[in-house]
Amino acid sequence: MASLERLPEPGTLNIGTDGAMAGRTGSYEKRLADMVGVYRDGDAYRQVLAENGPDAIVYRVAEHRYSDGPGELIVGTSTLLPGRVGDEFTVTRGHLHALPDRAELYHCLGGHGVLLLETVDGESRAVPLTAGQAVHVPGHWIHRSVNVGTEPFVTLFCYSADAGQDYEIISEAGGMARLVVSDGNGGWTPRPNPDHVGYRKAVA
Ligand code: ZN
Repeated sequence: MASLERLPEPGTLNIGTDGAMAGRTGSYEKRLADMVGVYRDGDAYRQVLAENGPDAIVYRVAEHRYSDGPGELIVGTSTLLPGRVGDEFTVTRGHLHALPDRAELYHCLGGHGVLLLETVDGESRAVPLTAGQAVHVPGHWIHRSVNVGTEPFVTLFCYSADAGQDYEIISEAGGMARLVVSDGNGGWTPRPNPDHVGYRKAVA
């Protein structure tokens, strides 16, 4: 049994509705140049890249973690800026957990977004999220955030520290099975992605 002296201090975090997280142990940003191949419309992506520059921020992540050990948690915030690439709303890269049975909580702190969820067997869900709403994502669901509003879409997330991320499962499949696009009336709608060729069933 670990002695009390050797245990980490409880993490005390001050989390803003803008995603700011005092007490974080790490953070990173994804910029437009990091999103090559993520959006289906390559011409629209290159146009947004030319207009905003490769360093324009798409989303920020702040997180608190102790270690990658089993039983530990990663707690963090994701702040996805608004915008569109063609008719597709801005997205995070999306992933399946490398240990696919690991679940995750997403609690919306601000903005208007959609959590796009898919299984390798072809199930798809698009769950709208606004402040105060949360999705408890079971294991085995591929997940991505989409900002369908005009303000930053901010979520608080929490998942197992040993989960890891498999991003390639989406790129290998030609993208997720659904795109979240403008409905032409100020709203959004999920639309089948014609480039999607199906997910691999077994993680190598
Ligand atoms: Zn995840």
